[in-house]
Amino acid sequence: RAKEKGRGRFFFYEPLMDEKIERRRQIALAMDGALERNEFELVYQPIFDLAKGRITSCETLLRWNSPQFGSISPAEFIPIAEDNTLIVMIGDWVLRQACRTAAHWPADVTIAVNLSPVQLRAPDLTHAVLAALSASGLPPERLTLEVTESVLLDDVDRSLAALSALNRIHVCTTLDDFGTGYSSLSYLTQFPFQTLKIDRSFVIDLEHNPASVAIVQTIVDLAAKLGMRTVAEGVETPAQLDQLRRTRCDAVQGFLLARPMSAPEVIGLFAEQAAFRSNPGQPALPGA
Ligand code: C2E
Ligand code: MG
Ligand code: MG
Ligand code: MG
Repeated sequence: RAKEKGRGRFFFYEPLMDEKIERRRQIALAMDGALERNEFELVYQPIFDLAKGRITSCETLLRWNSPQFGSISPAEFIPIAEDNTLIVMIGDWVLRQACRTAAHWPADVTIAVNLSPVQLRAPDLTHAVLAALSASGLPPERLTLEVTESVLLDDVDRSLAALSALNRIHVCTTLDDFGTGYSSLSYLTQFPFQTLKIDRSFVIDLEHNPASVAIVQTIVDLAAKLGMRTVAEGVETPAQLDQLRRTRCDAVQGFLLARPMSAPEVIGLFAEQAAFRSNPGQPALPGA
């Protein structure tokens, strides 16, 4: 930077900038070896199918309990891991662990795993996915990999090839956070996604902004026409859930229905759900 090239030591002129860079550097250092020290943990957030009135999938979310930093949001540490290629090792651990967990779930429940753009473009992705599946015994149809729109823009051909390869081994793909990026609607017809996840920003607005209702309705209808399922993320209020039912969105995920939880807690929820089904008359969806 200019200051370092010049007289040197006047870092105090940009304390905020330097603090940010320093924190990033410290986090990168602390992340090195965190996997071996068992500092990472996975939680799972249930996804509810609205027509079936039950959990049909859970999204895997990574947690890092750092002795130095406490718990850091994946939104902060994953971009840092992407910068120094640690993401490939961490991502592989997530994939294996998630498949192992889901292999113990009911056969009609799938698991969603977030994939970094770096992982999607890694040449051995298919190999890594197949290895995780065969080690766990999870059928490929029960795994869905979530990628965000930014992936599609970066390198269209490579992304398309990677997504098609996943579909060929019968693994499903989800377009995550739809509506936040810059991709045009026409991308949807080019990429082979089975599911489209509507971003939380539209869901937040549903109650008070009629334009958001129109946008969500349009996304749901378009997805249906293209043969894709829709999931709405970040559902926090009964009014939002109500609106989403009216749009005929397929599934919902959010704090209103369930928080991200540990693997044993998810199993507990499946057991409760099975009890509901043999005891009709009770509302199947929490908050409904
Ligand atoms: P995402 O894939 O869009 O995941 C959904 C995020 O929304 C999660 O945040 C979840 O806890 C949060 N969420 C769920 N329901 C609600 C709600 O009702 N209200 C609000 N305000 N938030 C809700 P989290 O766990 O902090 O993860 C943030 C992001 O980090 C994820 O966004 C995903 O992009 C990334 N991420 C998480 N785990 C992994 C992973 O294993 N690998 C990769 N590559 N990325 C991951
Ligand atoms: Mg996701
Ligand atoms: Mg999302
Ligand atoms: Mg999101």
